[in-house]
Amino acid sequence: MSLTIRTVCRGCGGELREFLSLGEQPLGNRLRKAHEPAEVPRFPLTLCHCTVCDLAQLREVVDPAVLFADYAYVPSTSSTMRAHFDTLAASACERLSLGRGDLVVDVGSNDGLLLSSFQRRGVDVLGIEPAEGLAARANAAGIPTVNAFFGEAMARTLPAAGRASLVTATNVFAHVDDVRGFTRAAFTLLKRDGVFVVEVQSFADTVSSLAFDMTYHEHMTYWSTASLRHMCRIEGLDLLDVERVETHGGSLRAVIGRAGHPLAHPERVEARIAAERGRVGAEGATRLAAGATTVRRQLQELIGSVRRGGGRIAAYGAPAKATVLLNYCGFTDRDVEWVADKNADKQGHFIPGVNIPVVAPSRIASTPPTHLLLLAWNLAPEIMQEQAAFGDAGGRYLVPFPEPREISPPR
Ligand SMILES: [Zn+2]
Repeated sequence: MSLTIRTVCRGCGGELREFLSLGEQPLGNRLRKAHEPAEVPRFPLTLCHCTVCDLAQLREVVDPAVLFADYAYVPSTSSTMRAHFDTLAASACERLSLGRGDLVVDVGSNDGLLLSSFQRRGVDVLGIEPAEGLAARANAAGIPTVNAFFGEAMARTLPAAGRASLVTATNVFAHVDDVRGFTRAAFTLLKRDGVFVVEVQSFADTVSSLAFDMTYHEHMTYWSTASLRHMCRIEGLDLLDVERVETHGGSLRAVIGRAGHPLAHPERVEARIAAERGRVGAEGATRLAAGATTVRRQLQELIGSVRRGGGRIAAYGAPAKATVLLNYCGFTDRDVEWVADKNADKQGHFIPGVNIPVVAPSRIASTPPTHLLLLAWNLAPEIMQEQAAFGDAGGRYLVPFPEPREISPPR
């Protein structure tokens, strides 16, 4: 069986308490191919929080070899993500005074999008990417990339060990079961004064937006600033700095270094912890659990009323969260006829579990629905801009969070 169950906290070893079950869910990023059986494997999806450090996390661990074998998330198809990574590279180069001769290692480097921004600034780069197809694509594009799962033992064997000025992990840290081992591996690569920058979705923002669809099997931990600092301290490290960034509905960009590092800004870390109060830990867990059932009921009612009024609903965006939301709400292709996505690798496949087809965005013009449900809601402004013709023709949008509602596109 490729499923194991966590009994203690990934960050501190504390006791876990369950607060939200999203039922038996297929793997969010594993779209079903047309020739595959309609019934796909499902695994329970259960959120817990740690009674000691407040880290929210999944109870389940699906074997990474199964989980990431056919990984389909490619941020370079989004102009929002391209701009985000370029800003991250620019700010890191400036703050860390990176230039020729410095080495940046990106773990979970995908198709090399972030590293290409560093490379353009004259910095040496190395990617580490477990998905074979993505690693090959990066290497072909001139971004040196090792195709492997990252961990302490493999980090020690890399020529980069002890040489990196910066190790980055954007939207990958949360995809790791052994977060402490992963952190130690990053510091195996770093020079004495090197820093580890992680971007993780902010649990406080998830609670504010009620976007429980960010919960999927790949995504094992849901961090607050306090739980990050707790884990750093256990590893003898310092959470030097943290800022909130807009990606994925609100994320934390955390800078971790060895104790006594000159880049420490404890006042900013304290301010962030204060800003998250009431939206993390047991309180946040209670709010998210109640919100998930409310959003489900309201979205079912909204889609039902649009259909009864003669509306035809399609959706935009087939990221992992689309799988989670559609399965949790129990929608079928009678509710949502198809899902448009720009990523050609996804087109022609089906959202697993609910078997809704994924099509090219050109379908929106050729067979216009009356309503587009925004499943990639974090990219809403970009999508509405690209689909201006749909809006100009009177098309309407359905937004799931924080309260399901119908909106007119901006004029
Ligand atoms: Zn803990």
